Amino acid sequence: MSAAPQFRIGTGFDIHRLVGGRRLILGGVEFLHENGLEGHSDADVLLHAISDALLGAVASGDIGNHFPNTDPRWKDCASEVFVRESVRIVNEAGYAVGNVDATLLAERPKIAPRIPEMRKRIAEMLGVTEDRVGIKATTMETLGAIGRREGIAAMATAMVILRA
Ligand code: MG
Repeated sequence: MSAAPQFRIGTGFDIHRLVGGRRLILGGVEFLHENGLEGHSDADVLLHAISDALLGAVASGDIGNHFPNTDPRWKDCASEVFVRESVRIVNEAGYAVGNVDATLLAERPKIAPRIPEMRKRIAEMLGVTEDRVGIKATTMETLGAIGRREGIAAMATAMVILRA
């Protein structure tokens, strides 16, 4: 049997539709916006991508396996729960969170002014310092579904470190 690798990485991607009558929560931070993301949980697309990246780093399936959207327990649930549980799974596999880097793809609202708040919230969830959490945002230059403001997507990469 070969030794466990010192470092592992994982990637995550998610997209949710923007609809009326829902709160918009991104990276655990609420935005004042005319639409929110549709989903079984609070539909925090950024936290979902980060959870998938963490689970991917230890090859432990994805958010859909661990938190099925048919389970009433996760109805309107704060996605922070998924991130914290993903960190627990990473730890159980013998790893600690190294760093996370993520990008939000959204035409509106303006994300940049809220990034410091998101980094703080996400660092708390991950149990790491803020300098290990990179959050970036881009528009789609009005191209495609995201460009037409029909939804918001996020992608994330996580690196985990073998615990001594
Ligand atoms: Mg999702």
